[in-house]
Amino acid sequence: MKPAPFGYLAPRRRIEALEALSEYGVEAKVLAGGQSLVPLLAMRLASPAVLVDLNRIKDLAFIRPFGEGLTIGAMTRQRVVETHRRVVRRIPLLAEAVRCIGHPQIRARGTIGGSLAHADPASELPAAAAALDAHFVLASVRGERVLDSEQFFAGYLTTALEPDEILTEVRLPALPPDAGWAFLEIARRHGDFALAGVAAVLRLDGDGRCTEARLVFTGVGPGPVRVPEAEQALLGQQIARSTVAEMVCIVQDRLDPPTDIHATADYRRHTAGVLAGRAALQAVERIREPR
Ligand SMILES: Cc1cc2nc3c(=O)[nH]c(=O)nc-3n(C[C@H](O)[C@H](O)[C@H](O)COP(=O)(O)OP(=O)(O)OC[C@H]3O[C@@H](n4cnc5c(N)ncnc54)[C@H](O)[C@@H]3O)c2cc1C
Repeated sequence: MKPAPFGYLAPRRRIEALEALSEYGVEAKVLAGGQSLVPLLAMRLASPAVLVDLNRIKDLAFIRPFGEGLTIGAMTRQRVVETHRRVVRRIPLLAEAVRCIGHPQIRARGTIGGSLAHADPASELPAAAAALDAHFVLASVRGERVLDSEQFFAGYLTTALEPDEILTEVRLPALPPDAGWAFLEIARRHGDFALAGVAAVLRLDGDGRCTEARLVFTGVGPGPVRVPEAEQALLGQQIARSTVAEMVCIVQDRLDPPTDIHATADYRRHTAGVLAGRAALQAVERIREPR
């Protein structure tokens, strides 16, 4: 299959890309790693008049300290994020989530910004970013704005990005020393999109009671999904198997996942709960591990 004809721009500077998007608006599409967009073009599910290729803009690919955390340029390849020493040390949940994306060849080309902007409901990075309280920097010729996950992810394959905006970087705070994390998913084969998955971040006080819980699910809704009642059930509690079992019941009760050719809603609901329980226990184990 062949894409419909399109114009092609490959600017070297960020401002040139923004000017092109400002000029062409909804007629333009940004090209990052192409791992989602190129198949869509080939199947003619997308037919932009102009492609604005970001691959020559060097200052969109970087990993830099941001306080104790990191800020990562949108064009940073997923494979670089996965293996980068600072990511593995400061934000290991992110490295683990990226490792679940496709295969090394896909991650070598796919970018962190492309995955977040594409916002596939079964993808790993939106859930990981939400669990990590990431902030998203969006730029246009009109200026810059910074959004949190709830503002950025807007629904099925949809974000708050306007047609003239580019996601330029993602800011990720480091987890505090009293925090533990886990990323777990079930897929039919390693490298497939998740049938259900969860990114978990838990914090405990000196008495082992939970002071903060973030459980963000993937594959069970139109985007990254939180279940506030399940998180609430952990707060103030010692994370024992009984507390976790109660939380799992709440997750399974509140989630409303879709049935599709890959899995039924019941399967997803059950699996997401089981994964949430395992992730909570694993996060707590990690808090207790020496660092
Ligand atoms: C065989 C295969 C298996 C895969 N498995 C998985 C998987 O298990 N999990 C998973 O999460 N993904 C998976 N993917 C998708 C992969 O992660 C893609 O890399 C990702 O979805 C898109 O990133 P990209 O950089 O390739 O973006 P592109 O495909 O270039 O772009 C995707 C979309 O985002 C927009 N966009 C890209 N960058 C920006 C930006 N900076 N600002 C604004 N808009 C932007 C584009 O215009 C386009 O609409 C798989 C892909 C393949 C081919």
